[in-house]
Amino acid sequence: MKHTKSTALFEEANRVIPGGVNSPVRAFQSVGMPPIFIDHGKGSKIYDADGNEYTDYICSWGPLILGHAADAYYDGIDEALRKGNTYGAPTEIEIRVAEMIIDAYPSMDMVRMVNSGTEATMSAIRLARGYTGREKFIKFEGCYHGHSDSLLVKSGSGTLTYGVPTSPGVTAGTAKDTLVAAYNDLDSVKKLFDENKGEIACVIVEPVAGNMGVVPPDSTFMKGLRKLTEDEGTLLIFDEVITGFRLAFGGAQEVLGIKPDLTTLGKIIGGGMPVGAFGGRRDIMEKLSPLGPVYQAGTLSGNPIAMKMGLNTLTYLKEHPEVYTHLEDCAKQLEAGFKKNIKETGVKAKMVRFGGMSALFFTDQEICDFSSVMTSDTKTYAKYFAEMLNRGNLMPPAQFEGIFVSAAHTKADIEKTIADNLAALKALA
Ligand code: PMP
Repeated sequence: MKHTKSTALFEEANRVIPGGVNSPVRAFQSVGMPPIFIDHGKGSKIYDADGNEYTDYICSWGPLILGHAADAYYDGIDEALRKGNTYGAPTEIEIRVAEMIIDAYPSMDMVRMVNSGTEATMSAIRLARGYTGREKFIKFEGCYHGHSDSLLVKSGSGTLTYGVPTSPGVTAGTAKDTLVAAYNDLDSVKKLFDENKGEIACVIVEPVAGNMGVVPPDSTFMKGLRKLTEDEGTLLIFDEVITGFRLAFGGAQEVLGIKPDLTTLGKIIGGGMPVGAFGGRRDIMEKLSPLGPVYQAGTLSGNPIAMKMGLNTLTYLKEHPEVYTHLEDCAKQLEAGFKKNIKETGVKAKMVRFGGMSALFFTDQEICDFSSVMTSDTKTYAKYFAEMLNRGNLMPPAQFEGIFVSAAHTKADIEKTIADNLAALKALA
């Protein structure tokens, strides 16, 4: 497989964009090769500048739940664009998206739109602090909530891949109010509550961790977290930027049967446009400006074109609940196939799945928390990635990311990927 054009574009990009990319994991740096530059996508397939075809398991890191360039995203978009693409004033479609979200998430009475997952989590934390009058909050090691300062502490995703879980530029003053606990370890949370009595505004958690590969939650852990936060007068924030509208229409909270106080969303709700949202109980949300004193704003928030793409996507999902069975079936099929291949080749690897979310780790340890994730062999992952890419599969270009499938992935796509996985594992063995 030739990557001549991608490599040339990468050289050009490196002259004008730091690292040649606008988000680090795209650089393929941890897998030791230049990134592919994308020309277009259709359904489950993505095509690079050299015309190579790949089955895409990144799906724009989650937003493309219907696959690439699905007709459903674009319904009425030409007309909407021609009417005007931003006003800095409210439009009806913002109400319709808010209603759709609130309907799907009983924990939310109100929701505010932002432009990314980062803005959603940053704003939710500010709101939790403003509401409770407390300054500290708890996050979990290996969970990623975007790149705002106070959340870039012992973070996941690209920060793990590039070895900067706490980034330079995050001041000691900012980091001191971010307390870090161990995912799936309730005692580590209790300890922080004991040491910081009455000082913790909120706990923010990915209900299914998806930024250190995939780590399913222990059910007693999540229930314990809900009880503990309630007892302590602390708000529980579910960061459902990945899981929202993916694990189920009502997100991880529907699947786990837990009602958080605040929820953050992103990715799918914009149908591929830059959208995020945060919402929750009315008494908390009413603390937001202009109703209340907690300031939060955005020139392009609730952008009518982004809202139209989002509403189109959510409407399709609501009308086609079979998408969720399909995502889970794809993930199950991958899990079964990869597990069989691991057994057959004897490669030290673990396939992990929760609903439609999955990840392949190169370790022989059971994956249950951050420490077990960190036993993974990232060098082997890099070789595996290249083997899969050369066979026409775009897997996540880093060990600490999950595999995304879409409504457009077919059984045949998955079967081919399983066969390629066998060949790739054999090449590693
Ligand atoms: N929260 C979670 C759980 C995420 O996975 C991400 C991004 N992958 C974010 C927040 C940040 O979202 P964005 O990249 O849109 O800022």
